Amino acid sequence: MSELHKFLFDGLPVRGMLVRLTDAWQDMLARRQQAGGYPQAVTELLGEMTAAATLMQANIKFNGALILQIMGDGPVKLAVAEVQPDLSLRATATVVGEVADASAGVVKLSDMVNVNNQGRCAITLDPKDRQPGQQPYQGVVPLFGDRHEKLEKLSEVIEHYMLQSEQLDTRLVLAANDKVAAGLLIQRLPVKGENNLEGNQAGQSRADALRSADEDQIGVNEDYNRISILAASLKREELLELDVDTILRRLFWEEQHTRFEPLAGDTGPRFACTCSRDRVGSMLRSLGVAEVDSIIAEQGQVEVGCEFCGTQYRYDPVDAAHLFVLPTAGAPGTDHIQ
Ligand SMILES: [Zn+2]
Repeated sequence: MSELHKFLFDGLPVRGMLVRLTDAWQDMLARRQQAGGYPQAVTELLGEMTAAATLMQANIKFNGALILQIMGDGPVKLAVAEVQPDLSLRATATVVGEVADASAGVVKLSDMVNVNNQGRCAITLDPKDRQPGQQPYQGVVPLFGDRHEKLEKLSEVIEHYMLQSEQLDTRLVLAANDKVAAGLLIQRLPVKGENNLEGNQAGQSRADALRSADEDQIGVNEDYNRISILAASLKREELLELDVDTILRRLFWEEQHTRFEPLAGDTGPRFACTCSRDRVGSMLRSLGVAEVDSIIAEQGQVEVGCEFCGTQYRYDPVDAAHLFVLPTAGAPGTDHIQ
């Protein structure tokens, strides 16, 4: 069963999370099988993205969808993983052309999505109660590090994003194959009072407060660095094959940590698609009656497949005509209704 585990290092401002997607991930891949499936390297990239998006959503607990996207300039044009606040999730990738063979080792980002240095990674937070006209928040980063070196692993791209955009030190280990998509996240929590020295340090001079904050900072960094190095020693095969208890015991047996009740089953990460006939209908309406009529004239029906779950939505000429007959038909402003 797919599961998400959270833990805190006792007395240290360091937290961790481990996700293992098994049935949820296999379900998504099986649906894609009808359309031919993904090349191995794309399966691995998309699995890592799905694990990473789950960790990020669980980390910030955003009241809306968290969408992790890579817009590629190579054979992988687009890869998307979307996670809802209840940890239901879906993912898809669009592949055009040949992707390098993954059997010889992990295929680099620069071979799949950053061939001409134009690849981008976007993280979008789309609030559940978004008002009409309100834009979702989106952060977009190139697939390069601070020294303009190409980043070749998704984990590096997201670590870089978290540091640049959120000022959060993060260590991420990701791995996926056609059975499991998994990830380990270690993060340094912001130090208490770090940003509000003046407000919380009554009776202490500002210089003293700054000095003690600096000293705290050094200790905190040492703790974080030590734990993050332990996390980074986790090998891809271990993350894919070992159970969570074994992984955490092997990595952190010398570090006191408290684990929370894992999230699994109905409250854990699981596949669910948010597509519906209503949404497809709205999309077709936005194309306009002329466009829809021309598809009907050409193909006899309109067929729209969901990229995420594979559901086919079919509209015969009668269904299609109904799309444009709204209760408000004839009212002013409905000029597409004849
Ligand atoms: Zn769907």
